[in-house]
Amino acid sequence: IEQTAYQNDKLAMLGKIAAAIAHEIRNPLTSIRGFIQLLRPHLLQLGKDEYARIIVAEIDRANDIIYEFLNSSKPTAPMKQEVSINALLKEVILLTESEALMRGCLIQLEAYEETLLVSIDVKQVKQVILNIMKNSLDAIEEINGSRNGRIDVIVQRSPEGVEITLRDNGKGMDRSTLSRLFDPFFTTKEAGTGLGLSVSYRIIRNHGGTIRVDSVPDEGTSFMINLPLIS
Ligand code: ADP
Repeated sequence: IEQTAYQNDKLAMLGKIAAAIAHEIRNPLTSIRGFIQLLRPHLLQLGKDEYARIIVAEIDRANDIIYEFLNSSKPTAPMKQEVSINALLKEVILLTESEALMRGCLIQLEAYEETLLVSIDVKQVKQVILNIMKNSLDAIEEINGSRNGRIDVIVQRSPEGVEITLRDNGKGMDRSTLSRLFDPFFTTKEAGTGLGLSVSYRIIRNHGGTIRVDSVPDEGTSFMINLPLIS
């Protein structure tokens, strides 16, 4: 699925607006959060602590959205470095493994036997892999039954350079979710921001790469990231 020019324009415009007003919104949010916390004992006495919990959770979500957007809307000339794709993936897996295990999921790397060098902004591309893996963990958690969670990370040569496949056996997606998942703010999660994949899309595109997705409801999802190799 390709993101359209319209979506990219929309994202760029929203990024500018978000960057311009984020600080102005953050300050009042911080004071609202503080005062709600002060009111909490009183609300508890009234049996309304649940309201305070929801308000705080929603303020935190608004802050997350602002934070993620500020991060993603900064001028993104990638700070490129030559790295081995296997080494990068091993590092990201190391970061995610313990959380994955706690959530009943195994991450398996099938690396390409030769060293494949790419020229990338390590921080940005790591963020992309992390975003996709986090979604996989959520999707695995949501599936019912006793199936063991798995994320397979596969590195292969591709006509464009290198292809990284991230495959999960989570809940998968229906057609309508599939058609919107790269849209800014599209989320099916109660506490989601809907920014992870739109930002990931932009980062990969800025690297001259592509990102595709295949998904089958109740079976799982695969993300394929293609990046040019250093020739
Ligand atoms: P968020 O995770 O905050 O919802 P994303 O942009 O990362 O934002 O994802 C958008 C939506 O795409 C998710 O809410 C979910 O519905 C869907 N999605 C993404 N990855 C997967 C996956 N691996 N399995 C199932 N659904 C997914």
